[in-house]
Amino acid sequence: MYRIVTILVIICFADNVNGQDNYATQRERMVHTQLLGRDIYDIKTLDAMREVKRHEFVPTSIKYMAYTDGPLNIGHNQTISQPYIVAYMTQELKLKPNDRVLEIGTGSGYQAAVLAKIVDSVYTIEIVEPLGISADKRLKRLGYKNVYTRIGDGYHGWPDKAPFDAIIVTAGVKEIPPVLLDQLAEGGRMIIPVGKTLFHRNLMLVTKKNGKIKAKKRIPVAFVPFTRKNE
Ligand code: SAH
Repeated sequence: MYRIVTILVIICFADNVNGQDNYATQRERMVHTQLLGRDIYDIKTLDAMREVKRHEFVPTSIKYMAYTDGPLNIGHNQTISQPYIVAYMTQELKLKPNDRVLEIGTGSGYQAAVLAKIVDSVYTIEIVEPLGISADKRLKRLGYKNVYTRIGDGYHGWPDKAPFDAIIVTAGVKEIPPVLLDQLAEGGRMIIPVGKTLFHRNLMLVTKKNGKIKAKKRIPVAFVPFTRKNE
């Protein structure tokens, strides 16, 4: 009996170590092939992508796909972006350690976790209540103390915490919400997918210098739509 218990304990332990190792290996491979293998070179972004356990942010049934090169379904018709897109958007923001960042579209909380590894604080808003609640619980469980979540329509930004050094919108808008431009700090950067339909959007990099707004087209992307409370 004693021997059987010992064997079982060893098997469980080995399995656990294997599982952890497996994810760590998959994550390292993801960084090498999907990020370094493309145009992600920012050390802070690469380190954050190496550290954040993406498999914790996807439904249990698809954990085995967490490090694949594509977006994944997180329920409620929403998706967690492809790792490359998360890294690309993060890199484009040219983040500094003291930055305060606003994210619209918490989803699983993965992008917020990646940002939280780099900056002082992340404020993130989600319109779909169950997603916002589970992301908040998940981020707390995983120990992310500098992410502040809120349920609501991100169209209005987060006025009492503005201005923000950087703003990231992770749902596709037809036009850039003007309130978000107001909530961008002087010298601030915003990355946002803009376009009419799911497959016809471009990531735009918006900057504010001496009060003037400039927007540059970056790469074509597919993003779930930005929705409004009354839609
Ligand atoms: N950043 C997320 C993925 C975002 S998917 C992650 O890392 O997992 C886009 C998210 O934006 C969805 O969860 C969607 O519900 C949310 N969203 C869409 N319109 C919104 C709005 N007006 N305000 C806040 N969140 C919104």
